[in-house]
Amino acid sequence: MPLDEYRRKRDFTRSPEPAGDRPATPRGGAAFFCVQKHLASHLHYDLRLEHGGVLLSWAVPKGPAIDPTVKRLAMQVEDHPVDYGTFEGVIPEGYGAGIVMLWDSGTWEPEVEDVDAAIRKGDLKIRLNGVKLKGSWVLVRTKGGGGRSWLLIKHRDEWAGPIDIAEFAPLSVKSGGDFADILAEGNPDIWRSNRPAQGGDTGQMFARIVERALALKTERAGREVPPAGPARARTRASRTAAKSKPAAKPTSSKRTRAAASRKASSKRR
Ligand code: MN
Repeated sequence: MPLDEYRRKRDFTRSPEPAGDRPATPRGGAAFFCVQKHLASHLHYDLRLEHGGVLLSWAVPKGPAIDPTVKRLAMQVEDHPVDYGTFEGVIPEGYGAGIVMLWDSGTWEPEVEDVDAAIRKGDLKIRLNGVKLKGSWVLVRTKGGGGRSWLLIKHRDEWAGPIDIAEFAPLSVKSGGDFADILAEGNPDIWRSNRPAQGGDTGQMFARIVERALALKTERAGREVPPAGPARARTRASRTAAKSKPAAKPTSSKRTRAAASRKASSKRR
């Protein structure tokens, strides 16, 4: 069964992800594709192509690039159910714990006769018609990586260009929101501690997102029961005061940063 690995990895009593027990709806014409931006232990983008009743899936750590000179690593992962393709939300714990954003979606067509043969061969040419990603692309399997390592490359066409599409168009095509908006829709409190990533860049990203989501949630709750105007103004004023107040005891990291910037500026001079 193509979805065995998908189901084995997840506990659907604890995860809001679709269990994939609904059969794929047969559709005429072009098949579905999506890219889900997934902040888990590491940020990555999951490219999914509907084929043979499932979503063939690749995790692209740096996200798709529309610059044809840029090759993006794409690790093939387990097939996902077709109804996963519109999922956006929070996986509170377990496999893939984190936030899933529907970053792009649309339809795709193979630019080869036989998709299964192309996958076996490790050279799958595709045409995407998404909101953000369009035109001709290729997935090429590389040596190593246990046969799961591929490269995603944009072909030169009218949809190619030098901009960083992940940076240029970072938000959801489903809700228009960012990760904090999506988390604020749920319960940001789950990650006050014990986040899916603690240290490094991802840990910092999580910390910022949780903080923003908590603020958004408070703000939204406040909108439902309108608070008195001055209270809000006071909060902002005290925040500004806190910011401008010189720190009595700078932390060592602050001191290091200050020293580094002094060093840098003296170099520039
Ligand atoms: Mn993922």
